[in-house]
Amino acid sequence: MDRILFKHVDVPDINRLPVYVENGGYSGLRKALTEMQPEEVTQVVMDSGLAGRGGAAFPTGRKWSFIPKGVLPTYLAVNADESEPGAFKDRELMERNPHQLLEGVAISAYAVRAEKAFIYIRGEFLYIEEILNAAVAEAYAGGYLGTNLFGTATSIDIVIHRGAGAYICGEESAMLDSLEGYRGFPRLKPPFPAVKGAYGQPTVINNVETLANVSHIVNNGAEWFRSFGTEKSPGTKICSVSGPVNRPGNYEVNMGTPFRTLLEDMAGGLVEGKKLKAYIPGGASAPMLPGTEANMEIPLSYEGYAAAGSAFGSASFIIIPDDACIIRAQLRISEFFAHESCGKCIPCREGTPWLAKTVRRIENGEGRQEDLPLLLDICDNILGRAFCPLGDFATSNIVASIKYFYDEYEQHILQRGCPYHSAASAVA
Ligand code: SF4
Repeated sequence: MDRILFKHVDVPDINRLPVYVENGGYSGLRKALTEMQPEEVTQVVMDSGLAGRGGAAFPTGRKWSFIPKGVLPTYLAVNADESEPGAFKDRELMERNPHQLLEGVAISAYAVRAEKAFIYIRGEFLYIEEILNAAVAEAYAGGYLGTNLFGTATSIDIVIHRGAGAYICGEESAMLDSLEGYRGFPRLKPPFPAVKGAYGQPTVINNVETLANVSHIVNNGAEWFRSFGTEKSPGTKICSVSGPVNRPGNYEVNMGTPFRTLLEDMAGGLVEGKKLKAYIPGGASAPMLPGTEANMEIPLSYEGYAAAGSAFGSASFIIIPDDACIIRAQLRISEFFAHESCGKCIPCREGTPWLAKTVRRIENGEGRQEDLPLLLDICDNILGRAFCPLGDFATSNIVASIKYFYDEYEQHILQRGCPYHSAASAVA
């Protein structure tokens, strides 16, 4: 399998600057700053078809092109607030090869004429903050960050900012609030961050994996990048696989590879005695799919999962085996969103705890037949009516689990209990 981002991941001490440079590191930054204009960097990224790897898949170069000309200062903010259940790819990218990210950040900052970039890192990632801080210090000492880089007039500073552990701060405008020292609440858009972002200035916000690709694109060109993946989803993707598989972890795949290859060949298949019942392809916010033969063949790409009625998202694959209770799995997801709702808007603040309470009732054997239409009705009143995407995210797996596993919900209600767990294991 082709590797771009994980190509050097097994090189000993690749997290140290001399080893990174020995392996070609910072040549992309040198090339961008000494041979290319900022617009040329934006153009090559646009031509490559690189799309946001945080989940939204918005074209990266196009996002950069929205920055208004002549309004300074501009900022680059890196979304490293990886906290959705099932997602752990950015953690490994930062932990194992921090300079790859820093180089991508510096090139991207140059492209949007930002002299300062912020890396907003998840509150729980204290040890990764330390790794990044050490890499930033090395980059300054080595002349890859700071003023007059490579003898040019370009200056780039990187600041690492650790959050306080709130999922909502992964929403880009809430992240900016938090970065500025406020409570992380999503902002009303427009204005979009490209026009009015951090400290009221034009700001580009990109995910860690997205930016880790940039030095490779600048070094090798747009056509080279397009030689990986599919026409609509060029490049590779780090897929996180969790659940009862033989080799859980992160795998870099060529976009378009069938899900079966990821699950069976790379992750080693389910552990002995278990079969696939369902899987969630894009983290807890993406609708689950039943483990049918057809769903095993879905190409790992944005278009592949959209066509299947789900979402590729951050490519965080949660594997649900045949001996797991779908309702209990759903309960975990619903409790997560209820807990992480920021409370700013009524549909989500009131609706997400109501969803969790109703699913819990069903799982504990106290469900009523009318709870199923009730769940769908609550979802209907959140979807499209909440202030930010978290509200919609909270509904997607309720709707999918009822659609694909209606019988299992009914069984819980009719038998007044969970067929997979005893009454003693009721969920409080
Ligand atoms: Fe906050 Fe939820 Fe409303 Fe988003 S949808 S603003 S998380 S209450």
